[in-house]
Amino acid sequence: MTMNDHVQNRKTALSHVERLDRLAEVAVRVGLGLKPGQEVVLTAPLDAVPLARRITEHAYRAGASLVTTLFTDEEATLIRFRNGRPESFDTAAGWLYEGMAAAYKNGAARLAILGEDPSLLANEDPENVSRANRARSKAYMPALNLIAGFDTNWSIVSAATPAWAKAMFPNDAEEIAVAKLWDAIFAASRIDTPDPIAAWAEHNANLQKRTRFLNEKNYAALHFRGPGTDLRVGLADGHEWNGGSTRAKNGIVCNANIPTEEVFTTPHKDRVDGTVTSTKPLSYQGTLIQDIQVKFEGGRIVESKARTGEAVLGKVLETDEGARCLGEVALVPHSSPISKSGLLFFNTLFDENASSHIALGQAYSKCIVGGGAMSEDELAARGANKSLIHIDWMIGSDQVDVDGITSDGRAEPLMRKGEWVSS
Ligand code: ZN
Ligand code: ZN
Repeated sequence: MTMNDHVQNRKTALSHVERLDRLAEVAVRVGLGLKPGQEVVLTAPLDAVPLARRITEHAYRAGASLVTTLFTDEEATLIRFRNGRPESFDTAAGWLYEGMAAAYKNGAARLAILGEDPSLLANEDPENVSRANRARSKAYMPALNLIAGFDTNWSIVSAATPAWAKAMFPNDAEEIAVAKLWDAIFAASRIDTPDPIAAWAEHNANLQKRTRFLNEKNYAALHFRGPGTDLRVGLADGHEWNGGSTRAKNGIVCNANIPTEEVFTTPHKDRVDGTVTSTKPLSYQGTLIQDIQVKFEGGRIVESKARTGEAVLGKVLETDEGARCLGEVALVPHSSPISKSGLLFFNTLFDENASSHIALGQAYSKCIVGGGAMSEDELAARGANKSLIHIDWMIGSDQVDVDGITSDGRAEPLMRKGEWVSS
């Protein structure tokens, strides 16, 4: 499949502008499933202006009533950390996130273009970075809850930016590095296929076949085994597997992540035990955290270490009660196109789709049967975790086996050496 895609790419030989236009069309039609009359709240880095404009055009052609774009400037973020007063790092733009929440409640769709420098904040004071992240997470909560609960249709796509490309291809000149990253983004986003919209429909159908299988199995737990990993992840009572497209509460079918290769569900926050070792570096808000090893007892992380970024990891775990517990577990075969590219993106949207992963923090109510209509207490009673954070990190590789554990304690092989056992 991947090989064919590459051959197609050579044959069709689309120009960069044509591929950018296809990505914009996929973002609007597949990512958002935008309906006529909907507003769009778009966020984008300054370096993604060309893609933001293509998306804006496709959104209006699909009937958007208004596209409002907020551009972010990473230089301005650095200027803040270098010149802001220490006490100022508890300040966040609550008014902005309240406005976003109001827009979603009024039916606006949400599209984010990512392209951040993975090590932007690597040299800034971790204390200030952590305070700023905490303040932002807290202020963002009302808007994030609506997104995490799929109150509206939303999606995330990516744009190649010079800083991100440089981190991935440090030995190439900027222009070459950016071109290589665009190639990787287009390939992973299924843009280089004869009909990207049809390719996404087929991909969604395959992911949904897998989630149906897992939902019928209704396993009590998953058991991961590999080098440095022996982890039992209990699943939430009434958990539901999701993957590919999602029907939001407003009835619109969207693909929240472009690309996506994962099937994922909600672990039980009190039923995770054992040791797990990360298989890829985690790029978290500008810091690279490598070779994470943590031990869980009764759902909580009781020991943690990392080869790099240990201080930032420690701060993350102190964010709140739920930061030490799991909010997501996801299965991705080692042969996924993103994994096959052999590239490390230093970006969760891509790297999480190269590997099975777990996430610390907030659970998705969507991953509990009927969860969308439950109160926070009802969700917690099922085992869904609550936190200001949601941080995915990779624990799968071609050396990791996964079993499904049935409610009567039998182990059924799900993945061997990182691949699905059944087709
Ligand atoms: Zn995930
Ligand atoms: Zn996640």
